[in-house]
Parts: sequence; structure tokens; C-alpha cells
Amino acid sequence: MQRALFLDRDGTLVEPYHYPTLPEHLRLYPGLAPRLYHAQCLGFALVLVTNQSGIARGYLTEDDLQVMHASLAANLACFGVHLSGIYYCPHMADGSVPQYARACDCRKPAPGMLLRAAADLCLDLRTSWLIGDILDDVEAGNRAGCRTILVDLGTEAPPESAIRRPNLVARDTCHALDLLLGIEQGEKAGSPVYLPPSWRQSAVSVAPAS
Ligand SMILES: [Mg+2]
Ligand SMILES: [Zn+2]
Repeated sequence: MQRALFLDRDGTLVEPYHYPTLPEHLRLYPGLAPRLYHAQCLGFALVLVTNQSGIARGYLTEDDLQVMHASLAANLACFGVHLSGIYYCPHMADGSVPQYARACDCRKPAPGMLLRAAADLCLDLRTSWLIGDILDDVEAGNRAGCRTILVDLGTEAPPESAIRRPNLVARDTCHALDLLLGIEQGEKAGSPVYLPPSWRQSAVSVAPAS
């Protein structure tokens, strides 16, 4: 069984964009690809898990999404980075496209995409990680039994339940990868654990996963 690094797409792998619909809307964060390559070299399967309710809202089609993801995969391939899987949820309960307007078990915070990937790709969820920029990502990762890192884009209030609490918070996705790679290579936690400014007054704590 292989371990995975589950990556949210929008705001985590690529820069935030309000309902991207074209390949050029997906811009990889600078400096991220070499770190993903490093994780891949350590044996992590890289798996994209993305909510795409824009499909249920009628903003784009699944074909549009395939074109965007082919382009994203090609950009990553320039750095030797290979996505082992791309999982997306096209649903939303009150969407305007009937075929996608339903509740489902794949829209994060549900763990459906991670569980499906684990079955498809023979992944060991207990030794896998998820990185995402909102607590719905973290909850999906936690529910699947993974370790989780929240990338702080300044949007998330302190988690109100344990299932939404990440193992670590990072300043950005490159920082998240640096933390993950450090832990996986046996580094002792040296630098202080990062917390978003708005969390520092709350009782929330995070701790590196062992
Ligand atoms: Mg996101
Ligand atoms: Zn779904």
C-alpha cells in the first residue's frame, strides 16, 4: 500500500480564482512543484481532491474541467510531477443543473473522494496527508483518517470541533510541504508551531502528527 498526499486544488495547489473555468485560470503557486516532486520521491502518490460545484451551478461542464485538468497535469509534468489521481465532486444540493443537484458523499467535508481514491489506488490512509485551505478540506482528511495541514489564507475561523482541527497550520502551501517533508524525514519540530493570527486568542491548539 502506498501513502498519499491529498491536495485540494483551488487556493492550495493553485492560486485562488473565483470560479475558474479555463486552463489559464489555474496558476500553480511558485516554488510548489519542486516540493511536490520531493514528496513524490519519498513515495507519496499525489492525489487531487476538489469540490467543483461550478458544474452543478452551470458555470462549466465536466468536459471543460477535463481540459483544465489536462493542462494542469501538463504543467506539473514539466517539473516531473505526476498526479496519481484527480477526483472532483460536481455536485451541490441546490445546484441549477438537475443532473448534479443532489446531496452526495463526495463533496468535502465528506471524505468520499479520499475513500474512493484509497480503494482505486490502494492507498494507506493512516500514513497519508491532506493539505487544504479551508476547514472543510481538513474535516474530509480527518474523517478519512489522514493527517491534515491547513494552509492559512486568512479565511478560516478557529475550528469549533475536533474533527475540523488540523494537525498543523502553515503560512502557505510551500510552508505546508516543508513541514510535511521535514516530519517525513524525521526532523524534530524545531520552529514554533504556526497559528493564524485570528486563532491565537482562542483555545485552539494544533500539534504535529507523530
Ligand atoms: Mg480550496
Ligand atoms: Zn459529490
